[in-house]
Amino acid sequence: MIRFISLDMDGTLVNSRFVDKVWMEGIPSLYAEKTGQEFAAAKEYVIGEYMKIGSDHLEWYDLKYWIDKFGLQIAKDDLLELYEDEIETYPEVQEALDILADNYVLVVTSNAAREFIDIELDGLQDYFHETFSVTSDFRDVKKSPLVYGAVCAHLKAKPFEVLHIGDHYNYDYEAPLEAGLDALFLDRKGVRSGREVVGDLREAAELIGNYI
Ligand SMILES: [Mg+2]
Repeated sequence: MIRFISLDMDGTLVNSRFVDKVWMEGIPSLYAEKTGQEFAAAKEYVIGEYMKIGSDHLEWYDLKYWIDKFGLQIAKDDLLELYEDEIETYPEVQEALDILADNYVLVVTSNAAREFIDIELDGLQDYFHETFSVTSDFRDVKKSPLVYGAVCAHLKAKPFEVLHIGDHYNYDYEAPLEAGLDALFLDRKGVRSGREVVGDLREAAELIGNYI
């Protein structure tokens, strides 16, 4: 019996436009301004530095770390607010959440740092009982089965009472299944097929209503 629906955020609820702007335009343009370099050169340098750290390290997700590392004179919240207008949820999100919220307690389980979650979900906060940042709250970089176990513990739920939906096959589908949760793989590109694959969240809401 499913009681909780856990949703990934980036690529699931919100598209990548905002996040890309912050990392690939915001930080590089501030660095260009500081050093007097051309934007393209600054961007290449900044991306090179991102890659040296890599997504297996907590620093990768930590905006304050990068602001400090490059010596930029801006508060992280001010940088995020510069691009606030670029936040775009997928078109079916509100309708799907309305359907799901009728029967389930909704939570978000995201890799993104807390400050990204808070701003990206600003207009949707009322739908969610809780939001979990894997990097800020659990100090982990990947949504491992252990992380899903920790989410269940926080919700005081048995794994089989939670269904997770997200767009990364390993971290949003295989990992929760391994932890004993139910899961749906959100394949917006339509590459995979199968009983537990959905093309958008409206489809997910229908599938959950019909079969689970
Ligand atoms: Mg995602």
